[in-house]
Amino acid sequence: MKVAAPPIVIAIDGGSSCGKSTLAKALAKQLDYTYIDTGAMYRAVTLFFLRNGIPIDDPTAIEHALNGIDIHFAAVKGENHTFLNGRDVSQDIRSMEVAGKVSEVAALPQVRHFLVAQQRRIGSSCGVVMDGRDIGTVVFPHAALKVFLQANLDIRARRRHLELQQQGTKVTFEEVLSNLSQRDQIDSGRSMSPLKPATDAVIIDTTDLDIQEMLDLVLGLAKQTLNAQMLPQ
Ligand code: C5P
Repeated sequence: MKVAAPPIVIAIDGGSSCGKSTLAKALAKQLDYTYIDTGAMYRAVTLFFLRNGIPIDDPTAIEHALNGIDIHFAAVKGENHTFLNGRDVSQDIRSMEVAGKVSEVAALPQVRHFLVAQQRRIGSSCGVVMDGRDIGTVVFPHAALKVFLQANLDIRARRRHLELQQQGTKVTFEEVLSNLSQRDQIDSGRSMSPLKPATDAVIIDTTDLDIQEMLDLVLGLAKQTLNAQMLPQ
């Protein structure tokens, strides 16, 4: 006789617009796990820095700013929303202004230490699906399941452009393409926690997959992982 496995951490990493957040959200719902969008955390810090004119080359100013930042997530009408110091910034963090700056801010070691500590705290208290760039390599190197998504840049830019248009953001396809490719370069090239698959990650190319196909695939992997961890009574 076996008893259910304890809740696990599922790490979903990859570049922008590979389908990470859509997949991670759907997976968390199916498993009744908490979903954490770590990109939203880096975006919220960036928004704070932009709004308060924090110079990113001044470690003292950064330290001081981080001490004044509280980020949390809460469900609003069934959707996961991001709050910065008590204000709902879910919409604001998706602006092109934030997208244009976030990778520079995310490369700062002080910012990474600050957010990784919070991500570890959240993930250690419950079953969690966390999406980002360094979840399987740095935040939870012992995550029970690690998935790394990749997709053709053109397809990713098309998906992101459509998403932004649906939100009412006026932006050209070329601007989105250039932002994604620039962020990929900074995210993969930075010295601290670069974007790369963990050696034990399952790599999935989502170029030709729709969300249901991605979900079926990863849900199957999650069930296998949970079964393998069932404890003998
Ligand atoms: O996932 P999303 O595209 O919203 O992430 C925005 C940016 O935040 C990324 O381009 C990257 O610079 C940064 N990020 C990161 N590490 C994470 C999640 C996001 O550096 N775990």
